[in-house]
Order: sequence, then C-alpha cells, then structure tokens
Amino acid sequence: MKIEIIKCLKDNYSYLIIDETNKNACVIDPSESLPVINFIKDNNVKLKYILNTHHHYDHVGGNLELKRKYDSKVVGFRKDRERIPGIDIFLEDNQIWKEDNFEAKIYHIPGHTSGHIAFHFFKEKIIFTGDTLFSLGCGRIFEGSYEQMFNSLNKIKNLPKETKIYCGHEYTLQNSYFCITQDSKNAKLKNKILNIKKKLEKGIPTVPTILNEEIECNIFLKAKNIKSFSKLRDLKDNF
Ligand code: ZN
Ligand code: FE
Repeated sequence: MKIEIIKCLKDNYSYLIIDETNKNACVIDPSESLPVINFIKDNNVKLKYILNTHHHYDHVGGNLELKRKYDSKVVGFRKDRERIPGIDIFLEDNQIWKEDNFEAKIYHIPGHTSGHIAFHFFKEKIIFTGDTLFSLGCGRIFEGSYEQMFNSLNKIKNLPKETKIYCGHEYTLQNSYFCITQDSKNAKLKNKILNIKKKLEKGIPTVPTILNEEIECNIFLKAKNIKSFSKLRDLKDNF
C-alpha cells in the first residue's frame, strides 16, 4: 500500500491509500473534493472507499461529490450515521473493516467528538487518527470528557511503537511551542522541533510521525493521569 498526502483547505490533510497491485484506493477524510479529484485524474486510481474519522466538515466536506463522481462507498462509525454525509458502511468499535485488499481495525476514540474513530491498518503499521492525536498535540475536547480523551489517547499509545501516525491537520509547529514550555529539558523534543522546522521550510508535511517519538515528545501522551492531562488540555486551550 502506498500513502499519498493531499493538502486540503488551510491546514488539513486528506490521505489516499493506494493498492499498487490494482490501483484501488481509499481516501481518508476528504475535506474537499477538488484536490482529491486532481490527484485521481493525474494518477489513474480507482477511488473505491471514502473513510471518515469523524463528522466535522473539514473531514467530510468532499464525501458527496467524490461518492457521486466515482461511485465510492462512504465508510464511518455507525453511531454517527446521521452526521456523516452519504454513509454506506457502518462500523463498530474494535471491528475489522476488510474490503478488497484493505484491512483496518476500527477504534472508537471519543473526546474530540462523541463518534470519533481511528483506522488502524495494522499490517502496514499505520493509523489515521483524525483530530484525536496530532503530532505533538491532541484534539480539542468538543463533545467528550477529559477522561474519554485521555483513554482514547491511551488506546493509541498502546499500539506497536513503530506505528506511523497520520493525523488530520498540520498543527505540529504550533503544538511544539506548547510542548517545549511544558518540557523544556527534553532533548528529543528539541531535536524533533529542528526537524519539523526543516521540513516546513521545504514545504514538506511533518506527517507521518512515529508513535515512539510522540510518546517521548508529545506532552499529552506523557500525562500520567486524567488530572494532569486535564490541566494540560486547559492550559493549551488558553495558550
Ligand atoms: Zn474535527
Ligand atoms: Fe479537523
């Protein structure tokens, strides 16, 4: 499987997972249709599935146009079926979703929204975390509790350390400013920030990031309990 990063809107990332054996593809969180359509045209892939991590417009905005144009199936969390435009395939927590050569485990990871899920392509060791885990940050808690968000992050934290994380936004540099104020002696974090800056200067996305690095550098994954996590989340909201 090949992953293509598609920049959308101001700072969103959509992703295409392409099966190179047959050119079948899934798109994750198409914020808007046009950048995805342009890629498909140039690369001759067949868009078979549209996967959504959650219902926010900057993750589902392209669903209906892409579905209409390519006759793709929209895949999302069953409990969000009223909020995910064009949904065809309903997912449950801990289910394995398998179609064609695509295979992902679904994790319900509430907090940012009540119906947020992650797609873990475990054979490829990659996970799409939407707006729950970002590089050096985590999503704002809109519909859930601190406890839910903390538990959701812990689920991701327990995956194999070499797992690659593809998140919904390019927030990494901004997130790094907060991490460094909380963790100013962390040499690995300092080094990661240098790398982030180099990438961004060249116009290269800072995603994917590696779970191992996030565990060492992301202050939200370093929180030991709900209390300290909640405190960090409040500080970041006012940062
Ligand atoms: Zn969101
Ligand atoms: Fe978002």
